[in-house]
Order: sequence, then C-alpha cells, then structure tokens
Amino acid sequence: MKNSLGTRDIHLSKRNQNQLCIRQWQLLILIALLSGPVSLWSQEEAKGAFIMTVTGKIGLENLGSILPHEHVTTDFLGAEIAPQPRYSKDNAITTILPHLKNLKEKGYGLFFECTPNYIGRDVELLKALSELSGLKIVTNTGYYAAVNKKFLPKHAYTESSKTLAERWEKEWQEGIGNTRIRPGFIKLGVGKGPLDAIEEKLLNAALILHKKSGLQMTMHTGDGEAALSEYQIITKAGVDGKNMIWVHAQNGKDKERIALAKRGVWISLDGVSSEKMDSYINMIRILKENQLLPRLLISHDYGWGVEDEKGTINLVPFDKGKNVPYQTIHEVLLPRLQKLGFTKAEINLITIENPIKAYSLKP
Ligand SMILES: [Zn+2]
Repeated sequence: MKNSLGTRDIHLSKRNQNQLCIRQWQLLILIALLSGPVSLWSQEEAKGAFIMTVTGKIGLENLGSILPHEHVTTDFLGAEIAPQPRYSKDNAITTILPHLKNLKEKGYGLFFECTPNYIGRDVELLKALSELSGLKIVTNTGYYAAVNKKFLPKHAYTESSKTLAERWEKEWQEGIGNTRIRPGFIKLGVGKGPLDAIEEKLLNAALILHKKSGLQMTMHTGDGEAALSEYQIITKAGVDGKNMIWVHAQNGKDKERIALAKRGVWISLDGVSSEKMDSYINMIRILKENQLLPRLLISHDYGWGVEDEKGTINLVPFDKGKNVPYQTIHEVLLPRLQKLGFTKAEINLITIENPIKAYSLKP
C-alpha cells in the first residue's frame, strides 16, 4: 500500500461518501490528513525488530505460519468473582496441548493468545503450553470493556487513564504478576457504537503505553461504528491507523472495512469456521479487489470456555466441537482461496508477513 492517504484514496472516498455519513467522512479525512501517511515496512525498518513471546523475545525470521487471534482458556464468569484459574493446569494441558502440537506439525510457529486479564488470561499455562508444544505464544496486557463491563475490575472505574497505563506498563517492563512473563501487545474490548467514557479512558491508557512501548493496540470491537470511533480517537492522539487492529471486523460492513483499511488499520477477520466459510471468502475477495490484502489478518478466534457443570469445572470448546480446533484456515480456507486464484505470495502475505508487520516491535 504505497500511499493510503494520498490523492487517489481521498478521491475514492469522495466517490463513496454515501458509505458513511458525510460528517463522519469529513472528520475521517481531516484526521487522516493530519495524521500523515502510513509508512512502508521494509527490511531496513525490520532490522532488530522482535516479537515478545511468553518465553521471551524472538526475531522475525523463520516463524512459520502465524495465527494472530486465538485463545486457549477463557473464563466468562466475570471479573473479581472467583480466584483464577478455576481449572487444574494439568487438565488444561491435556485438553489443549495436542491441538498446539498439531499446529506445529502443520507448519505454524507463532500464536497470539488474545484473552485479556480478568477474563481468563493464564500466562503460566501459556508458557507451559509453549514449552511443551514448541509453538511460540504471545500474551497481552489491557482490559476488556465489552459485554456490559462484566470483565472490568473495580479499579478500572476509579483510576485515571494514566494510572491504568502505569499498571500495564509495569507488566510490559517487569512481567505479569511475579512471573516475569511479558505481554507482546495491548488488548482492549469495546461494545457497539461510539466509545463510551470508560472505553475511551481505557483506549487513552492504551495510547499512553503504546507511545512508550510500540505495543500494538488490538481491539475487540462491537461494530463498524465503534471501529471508526477508535480510529478517530487514536489519530486525534497523533497515532497512525496501522497501530490499531480492528478485531472482529467481520461484524462490520465491506465499506467500513475498506474505509479503515485504506487508512492503515489492520482488518482482523477472526472467527473463521466451516459454517461461515463462504462469507469469509467473500470478505477476503472484496479486500483483494480493493488491493487491501496487505491490511488483512485471519484467525479462528478458537478456544475453550471455563464452565462449571454441576460443580465440576470443565473446558468446553467455543463452538461445542463443530470444527477441529485451529485447523479450519489451513484445511479449508487456504485451499479454497488457492482455487480462486490466490497466489502463494498472497497466502504468505496473509498468513506470515501481515501478522509479523502488525505485531513486531522495534528495539
Ligand atoms: Zn477473541
């Protein structure tokens, strides 16, 4: 993408003004002009770059295929209700390890685990799974405000964005709790529509840490309107759109994905499954037609929920076992894209180069 904010794109956006309300478009373009061009990523820029995994920093060479948005265990109980984790570590390893080993055998080398703190983030489990499987895993810092703030700790309401950013920076600098395991990105969650005051405060905390660390801002986002709101807040803070991953962009519209991708935002089509395959292929095809494959990330958003079933804590797959965990992209989606004429270079772009560009950090 040579100049996503150049004359050509603005001309295109004028042609498509009906795709967003005119006022939002005018604001979007104004902010885009003020925020400067999306910079190119080159070998030169990548020098010394790294990804922070639960087992330490790794370089960008020979990583294999990458899954940029997955989970292992997620506990939907709510923040600060019960001590975490509620399951036995051995049980979790027995359930999940074979699937990570399977990924490694299929040529995957790196996996971004997107479960935030207070919704089941378990970094010691991630470290054990990484060491046992050989798959590199990245964890996150940040809070998840979607689903009626159910997963926010009490201090998220009372503390300022600066204080919250200090908490997250401590995790980045010193490690999570007393584990010395460091996060490799910031994960937030927001609901639908323009961000409310708490969501905006959390995004401002993320921006403070992002400016100090370069950590990518990965945001579970309820709809396209919320994504536009996030983009407007970050660009107003002087941060480029490429530092934001619109998680669950499949919940938006094509015109919304195209508008933000043209401004550098990463479009994360996670939740790939056999049942919804045609819809994912269509969304990817439309991004390709608009020369936007360089902004695309794909994942399954797979994982296991922690469920109390009559007093027994069980790990239940998100899709109740309809898909083989983490396999649908490799087994179904990529072969179908190849049949549609996607080249090996395009597949490598989507499954290797894009996630590296999205998540790599500068020394
Ligand atoms: Zn997710």
